[in-house]
Amino acid sequence: MPDNRGYFDVFGGKFVPETLMHALEELQQEYKKAKRDKRFKKQLNYYFSEYAGRPTPLYFARRLSKELGNGLKIYLKREDLLHTGAHKINNTLGQGLLALRMKKPRLIAETGAGQHGVATATAAALFGLECDVYMGDEDIHRQALNVSRMKLLGTRVIPVHSGSKTLKDACNEAIRDWVTNVRHTHYIIGSVVGPHPYPLMVRDFQTVIGKETKRQILKKEGRLPDFLFACVGGGSNSIGLFHPFFKHKRVKFIGIEAGGLGLASHKHAATLIEGKLGILHGSRSYLLQDKDGQVNLAHSVAAGLDYPGVGPEHSYYKKIGRAVYVAVSDKEALDGVGFLSQTEGIIPALESAHAFAYLKKVAPRLGKGKVIVVCLSGRGDKDIDILKRYF
Ligand SMILES: *Cc1c(COP(=O)(O)O)cnc(C)c1O
Repeated sequence: MPDNRGYFDVFGGKFVPETLMHALEELQQEYKKAKRDKRFKKQLNYYFSEYAGRPTPLYFARRLSKELGNGLKIYLKREDLLHTGAHKINNTLGQGLLALRMKKPRLIAETGAGQHGVATATAAALFGLECDVYMGDEDIHRQALNVSRMKLLGTRVIPVHSGSKTLKDACNEAIRDWVTNVRHTHYIIGSVVGPHPYPLMVRDFQTVIGKETKRQILKKEGRLPDFLFACVGGGSNSIGLFHPFFKHKRVKFIGIEAGGLGLASHKHAATLIEGKLGILHGSRSYLLQDKDGQVNLAHSVAAGLDYPGVGPEHSYYKKIGRAVYVAVSDKEALDGVGFLSQTEGIIPALESAHAFAYLKKVAPRLGKGKVIVVCLSGRGDKDIDILKRYF
């Protein structure tokens, strides 16, 4: 748990304009109450199972395990099977219900690739809430399919023309909107980033991944896994898997970041590996920045990993050595998509493929007979255009 000001050691906190402090306090109090409320838990579980498709299977990947040799046993946590195709719905259902509880009739969100936008638009439609999603103009053109999906779901997509016209500019606009409309609007952040209590709250909603995994692996293997693998963008699917195993020191956590065109090229999103301590979007964490402290543009072939910041809890795990963070390149991730598709008949999202690419690389060095769980955070249909060009 972070301290009551939202710090994991020196990471996290609340770096926002005075006008937002009240909103964050209110959110923190409401969330605290909701967390203790059995009715809220029951409601959330209802939507998890009846609407989103939980629990997701923990699938033993027989061919993949055989292919990697060494007696490894690889299990896939199938978040790709959820409604809307990725883990992001776990968080938007949770925050959507919280908005209902706070009697706020309007949701806003920022989105880069549009995945979080679609998950938010879905929750808004489900709960009958109004919804506006901020999206960089550049991204609107790159992600036309998701823009259409959001509109069909009844959400307004607001183009952002400032800065690089991408995700971090959309974040800034969403924050500006929230400052003005905070009385009737809830801002849904899409990962374990942003000011307290978001990193804690989003983590809590995503820990359903790790809690289910624990139950399922104990049933299948009679013991805990040796390794957990997950890709890290903002860090929500990975923290969701890792956190319930935090106290089990023998379970090793491996977070895989986007190495883009290579770490030396500076065109990557390997924030935990290459970043320095700084403040972005309301919290202190590792951050890709230049000598003058200006935030660098991130790059990844996987739009969901293309963010120059990372959740504060990951920075803490790195500092205390609880997790190891590595990176694989765009090319390795693209090959990873082909690899999983052809060994298991599952086309993973490019984000998730980072984890498989690293698993393939490191498998010979993991030791004999290890049990490994990989978070398959999403499905790859959204990436078909990129994959078509590559293959
Ligand atoms: C958004 C996304 C990610 C990255 O976000 P995290 O918060 O790091 O989980 C990973 N995988 C998929 C499929 C995504 O859509």
